[in-house]
Amino acid sequence: MLPRDVIDLRSDANTLPTAAMRDAMMRASIGDDQYGEDPSVNALEARVAALLGKESAVFVASGTMANQVALRVLTRPGDEVVVGGEAHVLWHETGAAAANAGVQIKPVGTTGLFTADQFRAATHPRGHMVFPPTGLVVIENTHNRGGGLVFPHADTLAICTAADQLGIATLLDGARLFNAACATGLAVSELAQPFRMAWIALSKGLGCPAGSVLAGSAADIAAARRVRRMFGGAMRQIGFLAAAGLYALDHQVTRLGEDHANARALAERLAASPAFDVDLGTVQTNIVIARLAPDAPDAATLVARARAAGVLIFQFGPRMIRATTYLGIDRRACLEAGEVLVAAAKRG
Ligand SMILES: *Cc1c(COP(=O)(O)O)cnc(C)c1O
Repeated sequence: MLPRDVIDLRSDANTLPTAAMRDAMMRASIGDDQYGEDPSVNALEARVAALLGKESAVFVASGTMANQVALRVLTRPGDEVVVGGEAHVLWHETGAAAANAGVQIKPVGTTGLFTADQFRAATHPRGHMVFPPTGLVVIENTHNRGGGLVFPHADTLAICTAADQLGIATLLDGARLFNAACATGLAVSELAQPFRMAWIALSKGLGCPAGSVLAGSAADIAAARRVRRMFGGAMRQIGFLAAAGLYALDHQVTRLGEDHANARALAERLAASPAFDVDLGTVQTNIVIARLAPDAPDAATLVARARAAGVLIFQFGPRMIRATTYLGIDRRACLEAGEVLVAAAKRG
């Protein structure tokens, strides 16, 4: 158990449902989702399909499951999957892409971003004697390990156009798609439009306890429902979770700009200290990545000292930390955390 008054900046997945969301969950109409009889799940799936401009959608337990189900639907074993450098699907899914879909992953570019030229150069056609055929390209928007970077929409359009020409499927990892929409002013439907499949997380900035929703054509989503069952992810009366998602879409999307402003305030405080190296240009949404200066303590030491002082952050590398802002972390908490981190990064 954590002390009650810690400031937890480890992940925007640490959101807790608000009282009003809990209320909406308790009042949910429910049924057996495996028979398509849960009205709340059906409403959520229809809502997300419409939001993302796709024909159909399916609720899945997590963002990892959304990626894994999509990989299974869109690739064949032995395919290669092109992703941006340090993609979630490569770094944070315990090798699942190889285990579940039998694919290998080829990262291109750094910081998660890449261009259509880099994409084209990384692809191989089906039917070559030796090269693994490229079956899929995944774009992460915003990019987690890139520090919440927004994927430039012009690059998305160029990459997806190239993929269509080459017969390569396209997937949008939209764990933080609403953050990208907030930062760019583009609608999530526009951001998702170029992709064959796209998904959003309910459990990160939107503030729900669990769940992601994967959208695509009716045929792809029918295939995804079968894979979800194969992976043990078909559940029953999950209308409680869907009701949280519907509540979040109604009430907790427009506030994401507050998280972005709070992340910037924290980043500016760290950048003002010689102990941290923060590229403020990369602080576009709700994630702050900071490197420790050469004479500052290492990340493990900083994380431990900050924890002792009541601030939780995530170690992202030997000399790199990540902090995220989200519902429930207000400006005062960010400023306080900034002071704690600056003090903890003093030498000695
Ligand atoms: C968190 C995250 C996921 C996985 O979501 P889980 O619900 O934690 O499984 C996938 N992609 C990105 C970019 C993420 O940040």
